[in-house]
Amino acid sequence: MKLSPDPKKALLTELNKCRACRFCVDVCPTYQVSGGLEALSSFGRIQIIRHLLTGMLELDDSLSYALYSCLQCRRCENTCKAKGQALDICQIIQQARAYLAPDYAKEVADGV
Ligand code: SF4
Ligand code: SF4
Repeated sequence: MKLSPDPKKALLTELNKCRACRFCVDVCPTYQVSGGLEALSSFGRIQIIRHLLTGMLELDDSLSYALYSCLQCRRCENTCKAKGQALDICQIIQQARAYLAPDYAKEVADGV
């Protein structure tokens, strides 16, 4: 996904490629260790980002945690591409962190 002067539009364009097949969910290690919390899966993060961008959700600590707990391991991305998709899921999550929750990692590091 290319950097864009309009990150919200770029993110929504990319998110709209998701076909909600959920093939990526079971391979996500944070989903696995959470005992099956979809918010901590690849598809769950995509949904959270979509709803934050469209105003259906407001950012709070739990949603920030969902975004920042992604390990950037690319297991979901490889599975998605294996099914004929082309979502750069790790890049989507990175850009969503920068756009939607840029201060969260610093707050955690500072113990706020
Ligand atoms: S595998 Fe790809 S297309 Fe399917 S739900 Fe996951 S991100 Fe969306
Ligand atoms: S990159 Fe993030 S969302 Fe994808 S499988 Fe790894 S931890 Fe899950």
